[in-house]
Amino acid sequence: MRGVFLPGNSTIDIRDLPDPEPGPGQVLLAMRASTICGSDIRAIYREHLQGDPAEMYQGVVAGHEPAGEVVAVGPGALRLRVGDRVCVYHISGCGQCDDCVRGYQISCSSPQRAAYGWQRDGGHADLILTQERDCIVLPDFVTFLDGACVACGFGTAYEGLLRAQVSGRHSLAVIGLGPVGLAAGLLGGKLGAVPRVGLDPSPERRELAVRLGAVEAAFAPDEVDAARAVFDGGAHVAIDCSGSEPGRGTAITLVRSRGRVVLVGEGNGLQVPEVSPTLIHPSITILGSWVTSIEHMRELISRLPVWNLHPEVIVSDTFPIADAAEAYRLADAGRSGKIALVP
Ligand SMILES: [Zn+2]
Ligand SMILES: [Zn+2]
Repeated sequence: MRGVFLPGNSTIDIRDLPDPEPGPGQVLLAMRASTICGSDIRAIYREHLQGDPAEMYQGVVAGHEPAGEVVAVGPGALRLRVGDRVCVYHISGCGQCDDCVRGYQISCSSPQRAAYGWQRDGGHADLILTQERDCIVLPDFVTFLDGACVACGFGTAYEGLLRAQVSGRHSLAVIGLGPVGLAAGLLGGKLGAVPRVGLDPSPERRELAVRLGAVEAAFAPDEVDAARAVFDGGAHVAIDCSGSEPGRGTAITLVRSRGRVVLVGEGNGLQVPEVSPTLIHPSITILGSWVTSIEHMRELISRLPVWNLHPEVIVSDTFPIADAAEAYRLADAGRSGKIALVP
């Protein structure tokens, strides 16, 4: 099989590898869709980030947002059969710690924890070796591209909205209209949030967000007053998907008294110049939210047919494995929708 590696310095290396065989409790997938995430760009493609072990790339096949078809089942795999269509919760935890038992393998601190595409081979390959317990079966309505989009981005956006308890009682500001911001707007709409307003420096991304119905209106970062005017007195909830310091500041200024700010975009810092007028007097809650639980991911996938929502609407370009370098160049440019590798 072929596998895509990310050596750093914005380069791609496609290597021939032996086909893996599933061991106990494992299944082998034929890759059908493997999308590129902002964190692949931020923490691996440009340069390998050091520090947080969860974000240390161990020179494995890249890609942590895989969906595929089961082509072989290892001994002791009880649930999945050849031909099943699945997506993969992208962190394999120990399965036994408090976090894993709650479905938050992302927070597993066991030395056995390994994320696909970071510490164990991931989805940018013809074949993907997975733990059976990390796989989520896709209903007929849910395409492989849908599944790949949920495996990280939509799951992350959904968790952020759940953390802020977004419902039809709320308005929503979405800061950053990349793939996770688009997901937050689309899912916020399905949960009932209205109005929804987005902010992003890229005119292409603002146009796409409005066209997809993720938000009703989108503004440039220097148009915060216009964005605020759409909300009568500020948004109930703001979700930062930009991962930028100014974006987080905008999220805090856009919420109303007793509003909630959810941070899902990674990297950089948070500056609050004057805590009393900014946070304490308006009684603002700031929530961090990292990925999601496998339970919430399964719940989200089960809601997609009911909501008539195809997450793949945010995919702007697909490439075969052989063109992975072009796919990563485009994703790094930050002006497109979601980019996917497909067979
Ligand atoms: Zn991701
Ligand atoms: Zn664990």
